[in-house]
Amino acid sequence: MRAAVFHEPGRLEIEEVPDPVPGPGEVVVDVRAAATCGTDLKSYRRGHPKLFPSLPAPFGHEFAGDVAAVGEGVEHFTPGMRVVAANTAPCTTCWACVEGRESLCENLTFLNGAFAEQILLPAAIVERNTHELAAHVPYEAAAPLEPLATVVHGMAETGIRLGDTVAVHGTGPIGLMFCRLATLRGARVIAVDQSAFRLAEAERLGAAERVDITGLDEPEERAAAVRELTPGGRGVDVAIEAAGHAEVWEQAVATLRPGGTAVLFGGPKPGSVMRVDPVAMHYEEYVLKGVFHHTPYYVATALRLLESGALDGRDLITEHRPLEALVDSLEDMAAGRGNKYILTPQGGST
Ligand SMILES: [Zn+2]
Ligand SMILES: [Zn+2]
Repeated sequence: MRAAVFHEPGRLEIEEVPDPVPGPGEVVVDVRAAATCGTDLKSYRRGHPKLFPSLPAPFGHEFAGDVAAVGEGVEHFTPGMRVVAANTAPCTTCWACVEGRESLCENLTFLNGAFAEQILLPAAIVERNTHELAAHVPYEAAAPLEPLATVVHGMAETGIRLGDTVAVHGTGPIGLMFCRLATLRGARVIAVDQSAFRLAEAERLGAAERVDITGLDEPEERAAAVRELTPGGRGVDVAIEAAGHAEVWEQAVATLRPGGTAVLFGGPKPGSVMRVDPVAMHYEEYVLKGVFHHTPYYVATALRLLESGALDGRDLITEHRPLEALVDSLEDMAAGRGNKYILTPQGGST
């Protein structure tokens, strides 16, 4: 079959590789739609010690498709079934899993290889994070299940109430989903970004206001532009950071009203430093929360939202392309020309 093979940072090639054969508990899926992701771009450029401990390796982790073959002992999936899976599964036995904090699992099983005609799902993922896809949900709408599940996790940590004012800092694919879900939860959303394209997308997904921070250099200046749009100029009830830069983490905190909550969601690069004013944190009683990854519960919840139509992964998709366009698509994402691309390794419609 044809598959993307990651050889080293900067070298990702489409090659002929042997067809995968499922071992006990494993499932092979014909990939109908595979979505590009910011993590793919990061890994392609710099490598990723956790996702790619050894190279060469298969590449890509957001997909939906049809079961092609199942290994010994697999009961719930049969060839021809439409399926979608998350990119990891927790171990169920480490301290974090026992505490119900599976996003912090010490032994996550990862999956790679969505940018291929077929992908092999490890037994742990088949068992705990693979789902049948309802007939009315297109493959391309479900392929970004993993980022949707992480946003559902982030939403759970926000504590957003009806009538809250919420600022979403950074409106790439993740921020867009926050705009959508916070609006659904009854909040008035202020989208904050420096791209007119992304801010327009945020309004399409429900944001009531936009703040274009182009030309505003300091976090405080940017925060002041957001505060102007809040009741009494006090600040927002909840600030969500979805850009992954320490200075935007600071900017998000600076938009809070006293007693507000910041969910700091985007992954900053190693070595980043964030300034926090402990005096303000004390007298204003604000809450800062880091959020990472997802759990099987949030994956299942994201799937329910896809099935009900409350969420639609197609809102994040810029274009459909053949598998061969993988590297170009990553470059287009890097240049800010698009959100996500759907690659169709099996050809045909999704
Ligand atoms: Zn992803
Ligand atoms: Zn665990």
